[in-house]
Amino acid sequence: MSTSGEIAPDTKDWTWVLDRPCPECGLDSGAVDRADLGPLILDNAIGWQRALAAPQAAQRPEPAVWSPTEYAAHVRDVHRIFAERVGLMLAEDDPTFANWDQDETALTDRYDLQQPEQAPAELLAAAEVVAAAYDAVPGEAWDRRGTRSNGSVFTVESIGRYHLHDVVHHLWDVRWVEAAPSAPSAPSASSAPSGSSG
Ligand SMILES: [Zn+2]
Repeated sequence: MSTSGEIAPDTKDWTWVLDRPCPECGLDSGAVDRADLGPLILDNAIGWQRALAAPQAAQRPEPAVWSPTEYAAHVRDVHRIFAERVGLMLAEDDPTFANWDQDETALTDRYDLQQPEQAPAELLAAAEVVAAAYDAVPGEAWDRRGTRSNGSVFTVESIGRYHLHDVVHHLWDVRWVEAAPSAPSAPSASSAPSGSSG
């Protein structure tokens, strides 16, 4: 049982992000060259390294909103799940993916107790594995299909775009942490660089 706030389950179907730019994070995943999926996932993982280095990375901005460290644990698991799904689509004809209850995973894996010092390396390692998987997809295999347990049909290419949006959007979710002032209790209040470039 969590004592630090209940996270509302995310029941929205996000497949629309394949068809139009996301009005929140701004990513137009449909416009991304599929050859760039792996490199962009790695770029995103580098962005997470910066966010997780911020002094308040382990703090929730509100009681019912994940801290950047909790989000990072989720993004790490997203990379692992999508690596598994892409592998399955390449190995089998039109597999159906096992259901993944993201909010249940967050509770059973105690994202709220993740070690902030482990999060950056674990996220980066998982991103490297799945980026390499996208980089290695042969041309004709991008159209191979797989079906989610709710019936949504993906190709390797569309699941890659969906995956990229998911991790880009979550880095957007935690963008506050790099702009946040150091906690008053921090021993040395070295000022963070202001303004983000790129
Ligand atoms: Zn978005």
